[in-house]
Amino acid sequence: MAHVLKAPSGATGAGPDREAVRERVASVIADIRSRGDSAVREYSAKFDQWNPDSFRVDPDEIERIVARQPQQLIDDIEFAQRQVRQFAQRQLDSLGEIEVETLPGVHLGQKHIPLSAAGAYVPGGRYPLLASAHMTILTAKAAGVPRVVACTPPIQESIPESTVTAMHLAGADEIYLLGGVQAVVAQALGTETMAPVDMLAGPGNAYVAEAKRQLFGEVGVDLIAGPTEILIVADEHADPFTVAVDLLSQAEHGPDSPAVLVTDSEAVGRATLEHIERLLPDMPTRDFAEQSWREHGEVQVVSDLESAYALADSYASEHVQILTQEPRVALDRMRNYGALFLGEGTCVSYGDKVIGTNHVLPTGGAARYTGGLWVGKYLKTVTYQEVTDSESSARLGEVCGRASRAEHFEGHARSGDVRAAKHAGTRPDW
Ligand code: NAD
Repeated sequence: MAHVLKAPSGATGAGPDREAVRERVASVIADIRSRGDSAVREYSAKFDQWNPDSFRVDPDEIERIVARQPQQLIDDIEFAQRQVRQFAQRQLDSLGEIEVETLPGVHLGQKHIPLSAAGAYVPGGRYPLLASAHMTILTAKAAGVPRVVACTPPIQESIPESTVTAMHLAGADEIYLLGGVQAVVAQALGTETMAPVDMLAGPGNAYVAEAKRQLFGEVGVDLIAGPTEILIVADEHADPFTVAVDLLSQAEHGPDSPAVLVTDSEAVGRATLEHIERLLPDMPTRDFAEQSWREHGEVQVVSDLESAYALADSYASEHVQILTQEPRVALDRMRNYGALFLGEGTCVSYGDKVIGTNHVLPTGGAARYTGGLWVGKYLKTVTYQEVTDSESSARLGEVCGRASRAEHFEGHARSGDVRAAKHAGTRPDW
């Protein structure tokens, strides 16, 4: 039986109320739908105090921004992008095209076609999340998407130059300084100054995630990647100090980021709690980290690791970190997570920033039914068929005729009849 060393406070101060977010987003979408650019401009001014002549960053300005970045930053961006590119390329290579012959001359095939245009949302209301540029833009480019439109919000009314640099180096074709719902809607529906895209991808806060949810269908959406989450499974071999540091690493994302420890060691649970209380007061990002931890932090003690995996699965957390003696066991035991981090040598921060797996991951329980962003999300997996043997076509035609009439579809049946009759050298008798 699990017992709780720390429960979420249940306070409602963390993050905006869901219904309020839904209503606000719906009204912004409706307004931009009817008034286009002028509405985009008004919302940018209202939410981000940002109202430039053009939201698109001019290519010459991009060159100047990139040129004035420190070499170390460029090197680090290029390092991370190489990691992301290598993994995305390997994923792409794993998606072979297939063609099978199921009857003589009956060829069934499957291929992957890149989308024509993808929108990348690179969040940044609070921090310049430049790593999201690698994850969205570069992955789309690796998939072969010819037009990638990237949006990121201004930070404190100015251009986040490191993010623009990462967007450019990742290969964005158009870069806009535009954030939140207005960016998502402009990309999805298009405006007088921005052609629409076919699919939106990228993480964001509750407003961004809700805008993607409401627009899904009119435009493709990668997944709902909202406020970040971490869950750590730890046994008695885990270092509680590392556990505490890693929990807080994700709590600092915002006021609404759950951080959960599931352990079969009460001693590790208690020691982790002590470390967190000691670390929090001096964290530069204490405001968010502390609010998230107090309101959404949990420590659950279970009887054994099998129970820990089962409990962890029920959370379907975005990031699951395994700090146990045999971390790879979790690969067999667990089913619901966005990304799994095995052992003390890695951590969620590596996934977020540098290691190369994609950090755009399902949140809010979505890991029950989807993995995260990957090169395949930018591809349409389509099928084709060809029948080059008239006897096989006739055989299919006869079965098709009967199958269609069983469903009272005379028109369908006749397409089969025509082919069966042609093979027999006759004409249908209807
Ligand atoms: P953001 O870019 O997502 O949102 C900033 C925008 O929100 C602003 O431009 C503004 O227009 C809009 N906004 C702010 N307050 C508003 C209001 N009251 N009404 C309407 N619009 C409003 O940046 P952020 O806020 O820093 O959030 C980034 C989020 O991305 C965090 O929650 C983080 O956890 C999440 N994230 C998730 C993943 C993932 O894969 N799930 C990865 C990285 C980051």
